[in-house]
Amino acid sequence: MYLVMVRKYSVKRQRILQLFEDHHILTANEIVRLLPDIDRATIYRNLKYFVETGEIRQLQIQKNVMSYERFNPDDMHQHFLCRNCNKVLKIYGIDKNYIQSKLPHDVNVEFIDLNVIGVCDECSSVLKPC
Ligand SMILES: [Zn+2]
Ligand SMILES: [Zn+2]
Repeated sequence: MYLVMVRKYSVKRQRILQLFEDHHILTANEIVRLLPDIDRATIYRNLKYFVETGEIRQLQIQKNVMSYERFNPDDMHQHFLCRNCNKVLKIYGIDKNYIQSKLPHDVNVEFIDLNVIGVCDECSSVLKPC
């Protein structure tokens, strides 16, 4: 009985992780919508677990909304948010040394969590600039 329960949990965990193979960024609500047979509390508990184990990174890109992405040290990037459609794009090439060079010498950059806001390609044709 115990083993069966453990296996059941790990299948749910696996399915949450698998979502990130097709999605760069997901909010908890989106995960709940994509996995309708798993209850919300289980999804939140597992997300917390993955954040603690470092498999998933918690991000605040949109105001007041927590987003999640799979942590991959080989794919370090920052985020661009389209203010119209909330699309998130990856920004590469902003490295620690660059940021460090823009700061006083006595501060030590540990990690970079940078969000850039703008309008994506598709939205720029229907929106006037800010
Ligand atoms: Zn857009
Ligand atoms: Zn990302």
